[in-house]
Amino acid sequence: MVLLAGGRVVTPDSVLNPGWIRLAGPLIDAVGSGDAPEQPTVDLRGQWVLPGFVDLHVHGGGGASFTDGTIDQARQAAAFHRGHGTTTMLASLVTAPLAELEARAAMLAELADDGTIAGLHLEGPFLSPARRGAQDPRHMLAPDVAIFERLHAAARGHLRVITLAPELPGATRVIEAATRAGVTVAVGHTDATADVTLAAIDAGATHATHLFNGMRPFHHREPGAVGALLDRDDVTCEVIADGVHLHDIAIRLAARAKGPGRLILVSDAMAAAGMPDGRYQLGSMRVTVAGGVARLFEGPGDPGRADDPGQADTGAIAGSTATLADAVRHAIAAGLPVPDVAAAASTTPARVLGIGDRTGALSPGLAADLVACDNEFRPRAVMRHGEWLAAPLMG
Ligand SMILES: [Zn+2]
Repeated sequence: MVLLAGGRVVTPDSVLNPGWIRLAGPLIDAVGSGDAPEQPTVDLRGQWVLPGFVDLHVHGGGGASFTDGTIDQARQAAAFHRGHGTTTMLASLVTAPLAELEARAAMLAELADDGTIAGLHLEGPFLSPARRGAQDPRHMLAPDVAIFERLHAAARGHLRVITLAPELPGATRVIEAATRAGVTVAVGHTDATADVTLAAIDAGATHATHLFNGMRPFHHREPGAVGALLDRDDVTCEVIADGVHLHDIAIRLAARAKGPGRLILVSDAMAAAGMPDGRYQLGSMRVTVAGGVARLFEGPGDPGRADDPGQADTGAIAGSTATLADAVRHAIAAGLPVPDVAAAASTTPARVLGIGDRTGALSPGLAADLVACDNEFRPRAVMRHGEWLAAPLMG
């Protein structure tokens, strides 16, 4: 049996320092604190051991993406994130022509069949042009149950999350249909008021797509979607804790308001994650990455050109160039306790996906999905289903 020992092991209850993890094939057999019960196979001294990260919102990475390109490129994007500690991920699609969305959903369903991804997240097409961010407003549609059913069918049971704007006509029926189909409904890219958002939650929405980003700002007399999503205990909230999309105060306030079981870290990464500055695509939108910050490219006549004068010089912030490991590191640096960050990066998103009994925590009986990090929380080795993805760099 493989025994990992000597590191700081982050479990749902505490940090075991030192702790040990005994594996039985692809599963965790036992976890304990103190001296290892036998001679360790891998010496983890000086390392933090976190559960493998679970990313509910990721479009690509390592120069490849889920939103365009071939199935091999989609595999490449998944492999890039796995190598950085994300052992479970959804593939997130952005707003695109319906036929294209159907084709991509069908293609990505193959990756879900073979376990490369845990399913699909449709970020669109039922979004608000008023809060479009880097999404293409030309292909946004009013919510329609028949369209939802087509996309759901194309994904062959692998559609896990759909992001929509609840203020659009027809949204309530789509929320109800998706909920009946077992698809998590996320509120996002929305100009909804607090009251409309509360009604959407009552209809079945349970999740917030990148809270704060793509929503009207919180106002004390009209707290908007942000206020409603933070206030309701039956809603989990994603945040993009990359140091670009949110001020650290916003991250800490969301963490306090939601508590450790309801905050979720996502990367919202695009193809440019792990790549140099330059020009990239996010679906149909051209994106320029400078200094690691991705923004819509705003050349003359470019479809991504913002008509909001406040955005005209800079372009809307597009997806991130961060990995979930980067978000974990940033959230810890922003002051969130390590166990809470592990919950937000692994345990809670696994629960949202309905696979909390299989992965998302360092607990006996779950998959041996883990990330060994150095003292600065940089991943040094990643294990998925009991197999090292990269040679352990410690010991
Ligand atoms: Zn996104």
